[in-house]
Amino acid sequence: MTDNQPTLVYDIRDSRYLNITGRCTLRCQFCPKHNGSKQVHQYQLDLNRQPKADELIAQLGEVSKFDEYVFCGYGEPTLNLTSLLDVAKEIKQQGGKVRVNTDGLGNLFHKRNILPELAACVDSLSISLNADTEALYLQHCRPKLAGAYPALLEFIKLAPQFIDDVQVSAINGLEGVDIDACRALVEARGASFKQRELDIVG
Ligand code: SF4
Repeated sequence: MTDNQPTLVYDIRDSRYLNITGRCTLRCQFCPKHNGSKQVHQYQLDLNRQPKADELIAQLGEVSKFDEYVFCGYGEPTLNLTSLLDVAKEIKQQGGKVRVNTDGLGNLFHKRNILPELAACVDSLSISLNADTEALYLQHCRPKLAGAYPALLEFIKLAPQFIDDVQVSAINGLEGVDIDACRALVEARGASFKQRELDIVG
């Protein structure tokens, strides 16, 4: 593999990460991909195609060796939903654990509730909230889809009804964002809150 080859699978600590799309309906100001970097650690994550399940399954490795598999990259994994579900089912069949890092806009994008499909093969969800008001969300995340912030809040409320482990994060240090207000907003919707720090990825 040369340095400039897109990486579909990469390991951080004892977890294997799956990079399954380069697409995203957000354009976060803090996203490294909008700041000239397509790398996390030594991995080049820019993807201009949507890999199919077979290609990803071939790179799963020995499932029992990893704490969990995490769908996460410089794109929103639920935008390649078919591959996500097929690969996650395969990991579950082999006895592994599955986490999906998401922007929480999958229902808005697909125009249906995808949580029942995810619940069949996903153990935990990590959702990025990133702002305690719609105005701040528009400023920092610059959504391409209308109604993104209310759709995200609705997804956060629905998710714990389908998946036991739902963690929602915001980034400490993003201009104007009130971390305590983010926490309150998340906990009121039955999910747990995780504070992240600016400039630390993975
Ligand atoms: S959701 Fe993630 S991949 Fe999409 S723009 Fe924001 S930080 Fe980048």
